[in-house]
Amino acid sequence: MAGNRTLAIIKPDAFGAGKAGKIIAHLEAQGFKLVCAKVTHMTVAEAGAFYAVHKGRPFYDELVAFMSSAPCMPMVLEKSDAVAAYRTAIGATDPAEAAEGTVRKLYAESKGRNAVHGSDSDENARIEGTFFFGSAALV
Ligand code: ADP
Ligand code: MG
Repeated sequence: MAGNRTLAIIKPDAFGAGKAGKIIAHLEAQGFKLVCAKVTHMTVAEAGAFYAVHKGRPFYDELVAFMSSAPCMPMVLEKSDAVAAYRTAIGATDPAEAAEGTVRKLYAESKGRNAVHGSDSDENARIEGTFFFGSAALV
């Protein structure tokens, strides 16, 4: 059975532009419940560890530099089938390809600076939730 929690991040582009409130309101209106949230400014080492799965990809260094450049807002969100529901709500990685009404279509600037992160599986939601909030966050 699919899990009910996922890990989201309002990335430095959207957080710095003052879009956190609008993005959270957008998600709450779609039935996502905020379970945990904080503001954090990741070090290069923390951002590198969080995105370790992408190490070696051409965009990895740019991604780590961007995610450690300014504060962001990690959150655990709860909804039925949370991982899939949230990925549908945020839209495609590249805002130019994201569906109308999705968070990335509404608030992202580019494929790199794309407003939000979302876990891609229940297993990664547990790993990523634990990274920011400890092991109880995804129970
Ligand atoms: P998603 O965030 O939709 O799960 P990926 O896991 O494929 O996307 O990539 C992680 C993040 O890396 C993306 O959200 C984006 O910020 C960045 N990224 C991915 N592909 C590119 C690219 N081709 N150019 C620049 N940044 C990219
Ligand atoms: Mg991903």
